[in-house]
Amino acid sequence: MTARLLLATRNRKKLDELRRILAPQMPVEVLGLADVPTFEEVPESGASFAENALIKAVEAVKHTGLVTVADDSGLAVDALNGMPGVLSARWAGARHDDAANLNLLLEQLADTPDDRLGAAFVCAAALVTPDGSQIVREARMTGRLIRQPRGAHGFGYDPIFVPDGSQLTSAELPPAEKDAISHRGQALRELLPFILRALGGPGSE
Ligand code: IMP
Repeated sequence: MTARLLLATRNRKKLDELRRILAPQMPVEVLGLADVPTFEEVPESGASFAENALIKAVEAVKHTGLVTVADDSGLAVDALNGMPGVLSARWAGARHDDAANLNLLLEQLADTPDDRLGAAFVCAAALVTPDGSQIVREARMTGRLIRQPRGAHGFGYDPIFVPDGSQLTSAELPPAEKDAISHRGQALRELLPFILRALGGPGSE
């Protein structure tokens, strides 16, 4: 049997990013959750990005027996003491309603001065193998928020986030340029040697 890697997310655009960053480096087939038998989503009940990434990866390994990478990520706004944080995907209530989440956040920041709009995207990427080993790496992309959304790439809060050192929002950056500096790109690149080792070792087939 051929070794395979599962990227455990139901967020289509996030899956595109994970694939874009990891698949070119992988000696094996890279699957998404649409490629494996359906299983029920577990609540993201963890208090941290790392806990939630592990919850998602452990659950996927339990159902598929595949070496799995899952990420949990979000936007931490300085003026909101790090919120929406782990609640980023459901900030406005409906899960994965990106426009509602972004608009609610902008409303909440309406009275916050521009010089206090610092923020960071955070990503915890977890690797879990069928033999039970777990590794998590966390990374951040710091920047600031703007009030008028710009750009059509990416997803979530990208249209209102300008990374440090850039004039463009992360939705205006070409995808490869976002990947080169993003929280997700950094965390996955740190995990890469461990993923390659897991796929080469016992339990990857
Ligand atoms: P998760 O699926 O629980 O990890 O949800 C992460 C949420 O954080 C997404 O739905 C977005 O709202 C936000 N988010 C995480 N990473 C990014 C990014 O790279 N760009 C824009 N929004 C992001």
